[in-house]
Amino acid sequence: MPSLPTWRRIGDNTSLAAIPDHQPSPAMFIGHYSAAFAAKRIAPALPLPLLFIACQIIDIVWGALVLAGVEKLRIVPGFTASNDLDLYYMPYTHSLSSALAWSLGAALLCWLATPGSAARLRTAVVVGVTVSSHWTLDLLVHVPDLPLWFDSMKVGLGWWNYRIFALVLELALLWLAMAFCLPVAGAARKKYLALGGVMSALQVVSLLHQPPEAASVAQQLLLSYLALSAAAWWIEKTSTASTAGTAPAAQR
Ligand SMILES: [Zn+2]
Repeated sequence: MPSLPTWRRIGDNTSLAAIPDHQPSPAMFIGHYSAAFAAKRIAPALPLPLLFIACQIIDIVWGALVLAGVEKLRIVPGFTASNDLDLYYMPYTHSLSSALAWSLGAALLCWLATPGSAARLRTAVVVGVTVSSHWTLDLLVHVPDLPLWFDSMKVGLGWWNYRIFALVLELALLWLAMAFCLPVAGAARKKYLALGGVMSALQVVSLLHQPPEAASVAQQLLLSYLALSAAAWWIEKTSTASTAGTAPAAQR
């Protein structure tokens, strides 16, 4: 049996590296992007970076709120087999009620920003569902730390406790969605595959490298979301430029 956990809140200076035999990974990471790739296949005119942000907006806001001290986590060594994150207070991002609010808010924004009645409905539904997919996928891997309402009635199936299974799940979700999406990737096909390779490598590396302290978890995840969205933007920009005149006009 493991010894009693040592809790460290954000701001504590103790290094995780000082703890032996300790290899956590971050929260569900690349699996969330499966929703973005699936959405791209369903609505090819939507920008991939927009879909990358949509699938992770709940975690992006979570990272910002954690760094601001509004939502809270603590590092508990061995908390799950996959990571040490005791995400004990996140009512504004990861409750079912807030996730629904973020999804509806994103759908409404897209509705208002998209011209044309058919296009705006499609954009709003696809983006709204992509945002809501985050909570559904988190439900699979999180231990019961996802509140149904504000900070109460917490749920989670806890698949993080099966470390290899959780990793395989992430990779399988990503590559199944990638295969589904590739028919609409066009000239960017190889870049999509390369991006999938980089994302898979990031997921594996995250099993071997741990952030030195709790605040770093939020910082590193935010940086990853930003970098992957930038990569998606670059892929779309360079591919659009190389096929100018042949590709259908982007939906705005
Ligand atoms: Zn999350």
